[in-house]
Amino acid sequence: MAGIYIHIPFCKKACHYCNFHFSTQLNYVEEMVNAIIKEIDIRSSYLSAQPLDSIYFGGGTPSILGEKQLGKLFERIYRSFSFRDSMEITLEANPDDLSREKLDMLSRTPINRLSIGIQSFDQEDLTWMNRSHDAIQAVASIQTAQELGFENLNIDLIFGGLTTTMEKWKKNLDIANDFDLPHISCYGLTIEERTVLHGWIKKKKMAKPDDEIAANQYIYLMEYAKVSGWEHYEISNFCKNGQRAKHNTSYWEGASYAGFGPSAHSFDGMTRQWNIANNQIYLRIIEQAKGLEDLEKNLFQTEILSDRDKYNEGILLGLRQSSGIAETTINPGYEEQLSTWIQNGLLIKKEGRIFLSDLGKLMADQLISALFLI
Ligand code: SF4
Repeated sequence: MAGIYIHIPFCKKACHYCNFHFSTQLNYVEEMVNAIIKEIDIRSSYLSAQPLDSIYFGGGTPSILGEKQLGKLFERIYRSFSFRDSMEITLEANPDDLSREKLDMLSRTPINRLSIGIQSFDQEDLTWMNRSHDAIQAVASIQTAQELGFENLNIDLIFGGLTTTMEKWKKNLDIANDFDLPHISCYGLTIEERTVLHGWIKKKKMAKPDDEIAANQYIYLMEYAKVSGWEHYEISNFCKNGQRAKHNTSYWEGASYAGFGPSAHSFDGMTRQWNIANNQIYLRIIEQAKGLEDLEKNLFQTEILSDRDKYNEGILLGLRQSSGIAETTINPGYEEQLSTWIQNGLLIKKEGRIFLSDLGKLMADQLISALFLI
């Protein structure tokens, strides 16, 4: 399996919880698209001619791209890579970008999956998060996408925020369920450094979100998924009728991918590399680059994964998935620890595989990191 990721580093507004790489200066989007095309040109051999199973436009907010910009990117991608007929092509989109005209334009591109950043259907939540869309646009974007024939839709929702009461969370899930979507991603709010929320907490302008409220909302979500027919196939991801996200699943299964654009990561099974997370420096490096050597020197850093890194990554990615990991892959030094957790109901052992129980999912990060090799 192989895929490509394209990072579009622009957003209309900075969400208060977000620490992704983006700029709110939108006056050089075209220049950035041209630079990404040049990067694809120079680095197109990264996947050693493997055919693509997926393309993912992430960000940032790739839905700010216009028809010509998307057209240019596709033209270059199709010229540089071969691909499988079943290729999944996802565009992350914000509801305020998804007017009927925009969706109509997107339906004429090769994009066959939209991942819409809804986060909440509640206006108070959206205002608190500083989202660029409102509650009416949240609903309208899904409705219109479905009307225009986009069947393969994901929406992102966030629980555990300060304004998200249990009542609102239940309502968010009910609304999502009523749309009969094939895929939903639900993330617990985390307070990341370099975010507005982090600053507010540090200055004591805001209380820390309550872990117990978030845990109860996640428990409710897991129960809700069971009765609604959503398969909980990864800690934060749910799908219907086996419609898992191909691109994300390929990350979790250790497939190769090439990332283009500022801050994008790439992985070829042996090494990981990541592009510089600065738009202006990225543009300058690409403009001056004459070939791969210049990018190796200036654009990205590379890390060769050690056996220990690969082991830790296998534990992390495997235990996040409902398929878990083969018991034999876990370091024998953790045998006693494993049986205690199995007895305590945090892990489940079945047919030689170990996976997290619902109780274990509530403390996934602690359990997974306790199995790492240091
Ligand atoms: S739109 Fe997405 S990438 Fe942009 S600031 Fe908000 S959460 Fe972050």
